[in-house]
Amino acid sequence: MQAVVFKQEGQFSVEDRPIPTIKNDDEVLLKVLAASICGTDVHILASPPGHPATEGKILGHEYVAEIVAIGSRVENVKVGDRVCIDPNLTCGGFCSSCKNGMPNLCEHVITYGIFEDGGFAAFNVVPARMIYPISHDVPVELAALVEPLSCVVNGCDKINVQPGQSVVVLGAGPMGQLFIQMVKAAGASKIICVDLSDYRLDIAIKSGATHTVSPNKNDIREFILKETALGVDVVIDCVGSLFDQAVSLVRPGGQVLLLGLNSHALPAVKQYDITKNEISVKGTFISKFSFAKAIHIVESGLLNLEQLITHRLPMDRIGDGIMAMRKGEALKVIIYPLDHEE
Ligand SMILES: [Zn+2]
Ligand SMILES: [Zn+2]
Repeated sequence: MQAVVFKQEGQFSVEDRPIPTIKNDDEVLLKVLAASICGTDVHILASPPGHPATEGKILGHEYVAEIVAIGSRVENVKVGDRVCIDPNLTCGGFCSSCKNGMPNLCEHVITYGIFEDGGFAAFNVVPARMIYPISHDVPVELAALVEPLSCVVNGCDKINVQPGQSVVVLGAGPMGQLFIQMVKAAGASKIICVDLSDYRLDIAIKSGATHTVSPNKNDIREFILKETALGVDVVIDCVGSLFDQAVSLVRPGGQVLLLGLNSHALPAVKQYDITKNEISVKGTFISKFSFAKAIHIVESGLLNLEQLITHRLPMDRIGDGIMAMRKGEALKVIIYPLDHEE
């Protein structure tokens, strides 16, 4: 089978790999139907890399598949099921984070598609406990977005947006777009999206943003205060370096949610403002008991996911997709590891 393999810093190759086989009785063999490129894949392949990965492993951690074989102890799925894969395999209750109900912070987590073979291949083997069935009625391209949505659902669980509230989303990449759609569904009445790219801001309007604003054209704080008087109820940073800006845009008593990850960012934040204005600051990391919820949301058709998909490519053209993402000319790129007939 063809597979996209992480070679070394800044490099991948599309190469021939043997079809994997089930080695443990709790595993399933998957035929991958579609996979999407994540910003993390782009970071892994950057030089210097913005995210680690294991050399020689098959990339791809956002994917949907069909079960083609199951180990003798597998009971939660059967051959023919369409499934999404939670790529983060936790220790299963041995570490203190898992024991305390935070499996997303598991000390021994292994992410498939980064440190183990993932979904940019025609076939893949994973333990059955990573698997979540999804309806055959959901197009495979949308099912491939369950993984990023599950991370956004985890974030939304923390801010609990109420009908009529105002929200600022900093960064209109895929995660920002999913947040816009989710807070819209929750009843937010004013959703202001901030990004430098007009291309992304146009998509944000289709996602449900009521206002878009670019730091190139406007003073963001001035714009927000004109729209909301005291600032917005919730600010979500999907960029990972805008904590100071987020604090300057939220109303007294409001919430700041931090999702973007950037280990180099060192924003200077005036602690005084957080204390004096009783601002709640929350970090949110990957998905936490939110995978099944994300599947229900996608199955319900509540969100407008279709318009986030800007490219559909066969696997040997994955380089074009990565390049488009790097240039900011793509949102979600869907890769088909096998010939696509749907
Ligand atoms: Zn991802
Ligand atoms: Zn653990």
